[in-house]
Amino acid sequence: MKRTIYGPDHDAFRESVREFVARSITPRAEEFIENRMIDREVWLEAGRQGFLGLEVPEEYGGSAAGDYRFNAVLGEELSGQSAALSSSLGIHYDVVAPYLVELTTEEQKKRWLPRFCSGEMITAIGMTEPSGGSDLAALRTTAVRDGSDWIVNGSKTFITNGYCADLVVVAARTSPEKKAKGITLFAVETGMEGFTRGRKLDKVGQPEADTAELFFENVRVPEENVIGEIDRGFIAMMERLPQERLGSAVANLAHAAAVLAETLVYVRERKAFGQAVGSFQHNKFVLADLVTKIEVSQAFLDQCILAHTEGELSAVNAAKAKMWTSEVQGEVLDACVQLYGGYGYMKEYRVARAWMDARVTRIWAGSNEIMREIIGRDLGL
Ligand SMILES: Cc1cc2nc3c(=O)[nH]c(=O)nc-3n(C[C@H](O)[C@H](O)[C@H](O)COP(=O)(O)OP(=O)(O)OC[C@H]3O[C@@H](n4cnc5c(N)ncnc54)[C@H](O)[C@@H]3O)c2cc1C
Repeated sequence: MKRTIYGPDHDAFRESVREFVARSITPRAEEFIENRMIDREVWLEAGRQGFLGLEVPEEYGGSAAGDYRFNAVLGEELSGQSAALSSSLGIHYDVVAPYLVELTTEEQKKRWLPRFCSGEMITAIGMTEPSGGSDLAALRTTAVRDGSDWIVNGSKTFITNGYCADLVVVAARTSPEKKAKGITLFAVETGMEGFTRGRKLDKVGQPEADTAELFFENVRVPEENVIGEIDRGFIAMMERLPQERLGSAVANLAHAAAVLAETLVYVRERKAFGQAVGSFQHNKFVLADLVTKIEVSQAFLDQCILAHTEGELSAVNAAKAKMWTSEVQGEVLDACVQLYGGYGYMKEYRVARAWMDARVTRIWAGSNEIMREIIGRDLGL
């Protein structure tokens, strides 16, 4: 089905992202997987292309597109290449950007945003802790005032870009008695004494997205690194999670659609019993269902993208988009592995990797159980 949400500017932008992926990523994909990290040169090149500052005003080095559809195009193209690529870069340009643009002082913008846009400064966001991620209001990392500074203690885990990030937006408890209303956001930067990282975590999929545990032991964070208002961090996160979930949904569906398209080529060529494996009625019906699911899901998702572009996406629709697309992605990729037969289980085949890469999308950005909670609550239940 023809998608109607994009215009000529988005199409031209898509071309430039495709060129970037073909030139800077595809030839080095294996190297990134081996190193379990995307090379910094990719970030710098993405910065030169203007991909990292889509939401950043021009005076700080960005392009201030003011149109979420550019974020969506970028997410679609990156995840079409690799889920890890879109999650690593996406945390920066799509998830952290709104915090650093909307909640910061003029001095902070000048200090951080130019390097954010150029790719010289890689960012991450630390909400989840070893004790739990779903119940964000129960986080245990603390920040205690000492003069004009804050002393941060605690740890975060599963942090995307955690190993390489130069600046991490860290949620910490500033008012112990106030649960959700006692959380503040801090920019913790490389080089701050007491800020250390664990090893790169050994994940089931997305090896090239570095994911790490972060430790804070009496880290002295100056007042100038407080992001937004004291004790308003939880609300700041709740206001920005719909965009994170929408970005995740965009990547989920594009990733599944790309692998499904490749699978269609494979099942036309691969023969069994003298015919193409895709032409057996069972497989044909499976593929018919999956193609339909992708297209129907895309129609809903496109409406969410448009709504967000107009500043009208609800948290409930963002939750529906994130939950549904990750379920569809899982179903599509599992079927694709099956259609590849034994080759589908070989890591050298993209379909196998994609299947492993995709498992996490039902867990992160708020698990699908939490998404169903949000949707269920909206039903008055
Ligand atoms: C590869 C990867 C990258 C990540 N990147 C980041 C990142 O960059 N920054 C960050 O802050 N976090 C990140 N996360 C963390 C992620 O968001 C959390 O894993 C997720 O929110 C779930 O939290 P948890 O793992 O603590 O599970 P838990 O909260 O312990 O939940 C365990 C299970 O219980 C279920 N559950 C919990 N509460 C309910 C409920 N009320 N009803 C029904 N079921 C419930 C959950 O759905 C889950 O199935 C990442 C995780 C992974 C795996």
